[in-house]
Amino acid sequence: MKKYNFNAGPSMLPREVVEETAKAVLDYNGMGLSLMELSHRSAEFKPVLDEARALLKELLDVPAGYEVLFLGGGASMHFCMVPFNLLARKAAYLNTGVWSSKAIKEARLFGEVVEVASSADKAFSYIPKGFDIPADADYLHVTTNNTIYGTQLRKDIDSPVPLVADMSSDILSRPVDVSKYSCIYGGAQKNLAQSGLSFVIVRESALGKVERAIPSILDYGVHIANGSMFNTPPTLPIYTALCNLRWVKEQGGVVEMERRAAERAAVVYDEIDRNPLFRGTAVDEDRSYMNIDFVMAPGYEELEDAFIEYAAARGVVAIKGHRSVGGFRASCYNAMPLEGARMLAECMRGFENEIKG
Ligand SMILES: *Cc1c(COP(=O)(O)O)cnc(C)c1O
Repeated sequence: MKKYNFNAGPSMLPREVVEETAKAVLDYNGMGLSLMELSHRSAEFKPVLDEARALLKELLDVPAGYEVLFLGGGASMHFCMVPFNLLARKAAYLNTGVWSSKAIKEARLFGEVVEVASSADKAFSYIPKGFDIPADADYLHVTTNNTIYGTQLRKDIDSPVPLVADMSSDILSRPVDVSKYSCIYGGAQKNLAQSGLSFVIVRESALGKVERAIPSILDYGVHIANGSMFNTPPTLPIYTALCNLRWVKEQGGVVEMERRAAERAAVVYDEIDRNPLFRGTAVDEDRSYMNIDFVMAPGYEELEDAFIEYAAARGVVAIKGHRSVGGFRASCYNAMPLEGARMLAECMRGFENEIKG
């Protein structure tokens, strides 16, 4: 049976990308050596990193003056590195969930943090709007897609100060106006590659403004000066990222990724809205294209496990919601085919028919 993997992360990757990675693990380019066995400074690996960097720049139309880094660690490492490198005095943070809250907690170690708004009052089911942004902040930090709650900032917001964004779970799913950002970062394991890798797009002129001493390994400037080779980067995940970046380009780039995301999401949200057994948890206007959260409607709560089983028996797997929201979460990253979204909607209809007779 064909499986549709709705895992939130690590998550589904295009089959071709998984296969190319598997091939490179066994024998890279007919060398008789595994990619895992090659030096990160070898003549064979260097083009991998160079092309991955160039493709990320190309696909996101990254302007001059920005550098792309591929580093170990995850998004959580940048919760610390961002303020370490960019927070001179004061930073503004928009609190849209657990990940934002964690970023705020780390930033407070480095200076004054203004929480410009929070949606904690309604279980992070919406994105606050119309908040004031202090014009003297060094940056405004946003989480563009709230993986846990299924809300998303699908447009680059206007801000009097440069933006910094955690784009872990929606990088490469839409065009981004990078010029509005001092820094974009994320873990790779949602929409770029497997776990173990993080990406950073950072404006060079935003660096060098803090007076504190920064340990080398946490200094974006050091990583830029060393071309992501200050220490050994995660070579295999970078190769997977390269294969995935090539795939995104072949498929039509981020404009096409956004079109597909909207199409997939519409299939699932339409069924959530139609089906009396289910209910969405995020407010309509902030619904994420990437993580679709829903629960059993009142009166049907006890059917949650039964639906998970019903769907799994039809190849729709890993739809259990995050423990803090409950219910279901269907993560539809770039690799999820429209067919998968249709299969999930079909499961919801089939389940309704079974329950209602
Ligand atoms: C998954 C996720 C993180 C955490 O990523 P790690 O790589 O595990 O540190 C942070 N932010 C967002 C938006 C995420 O989806």
